[in-house]
Amino acid sequence: MTRSVADEGGLFDAPDGYAPRSAWRRECTACGACCAAPDITALNKPLGVPCAFLRPDCLCDRYETRPGVCRNYRPDWVCGEVAPLATLEARVRRFLQIYDLT
Ligand code: SF4
Ligand code: SF4
Repeated sequence: MTRSVADEGGLFDAPDGYAPRSAWRRECTACGACCAAPDITALNKPLGVPCAFLRPDCLCDRYETRPGVCRNYRPDWVCGEVAPLATLEARVRRFLQIYDLT
């Protein structure tokens, strides 16, 4: 059975004014943006600073023991906006811009 976007609760629907650049938004492509852009209290990670456990290849160095906030994070339309960008710096900048955190 095919699930519609509506069935997904709009998680993959970009708001008006955003045109997701990539179909990748339904799957994590390990772009690293969500490990670098937001502040993460459980890790004492400030806004806009890559997590200390984020490897240069944008994978997690403690994947098996990552905190719940990381385990519960799911890809959404924002991934389609940030993941296609060429550098982690550009992805972080865009992520923060989307959430008006610049
Ligand atoms: S921003 Fe999205 S695609 Fe990039 S690492 Fe996070 S969940 Fe994966
Ligand atoms: S602990 Fe791992 S999954 Fe969580 S923010 Fe850091 S690098 Fe990302």
